[in-house]
Amino acid sequence: MASLTAVGLQANASKSFAEKLANTKTVLKEALLAHSRITQASSLGAEDVVITHLLESLKAELGLARFPADVFVLNTGKLHVETLALLANSQATSTLTWRVFEPVQEQAIQFVKTRGELAMRESLDLRKACCHIRKVEPLGRALDGYSAWMTGMRAEQSAARANVHAVDTTDAKITKYNPLVDWTWGDVLHYIVENNVPYNALHDKFYPSIGCEPCTRAVSLGEDFRAGRWWWENADGVSAKECGLHVKA
Ligand code: SF4
Repeated sequence: MASLTAVGLQANASKSFAEKLANTKTVLKEALLAHSRITQASSLGAEDVVITHLLESLKAELGLARFPADVFVLNTGKLHVETLALLANSQATSTLTWRVFEPVQEQAIQFVKTRGELAMRESLDLRKACCHIRKVEPLGRALDGYSAWMTGMRAEQSAARANVHAVDTTDAKITKYNPLVDWTWGDVLHYIVENNVPYNALHDKFYPSIGCEPCTRAVSLGEDFRAGRWWWENADGVSAKECGLHVKA
């Protein structure tokens, strides 16, 4: 019987879930065998805990002398306490290596000092400037020296993500794997419930997409998946609802 949490109530595997899961494992296995250094970007959201769980399973299954994958988190300094609690728990219990990247403190402090604590809500430029300092620049450090990375992007999440592919080689320098590309939200939560995977408590407060505390709110029934991200911005345009980590130039 599904648990009476928001996650339990929304866990609902699609008819082709078994096939999707098998495809995801195939993509991950191929990625692990093709790259000597590959890293998973984790926001500690539902998709990301699924991928980490699958990587931990594959680490045990493949028995490689050296497992090529680790996990990284961008601690922007603005994360929810629920996210930080899950990060601490993950670091303490995971069989994988976790790397945590923070913004250059001088830049973050200077931005708040000159622009204000909630400058990101004043204009798109200021929001992007904040995301650049707290996410985009640290992402560059996180990916340095790696030939591939994995994300939890799904086509269903937004119009901007509708054309995401499981394997993206657009950037010749680094391959991007999106192994859950065709999973539904119900599939993701089904996997979590079935496998008893620890997840972010925000999901039970109706936060489907996990981001920074000042820029993320719960969504209401019928709202888009990413409606709670930068909700004051217009959703039109390629960069809307994206922080710059996944936007192609
Ligand atoms: S999501 Fe908000 S707080 Fe986080 S880096 Fe972007 S603008 Fe800054």
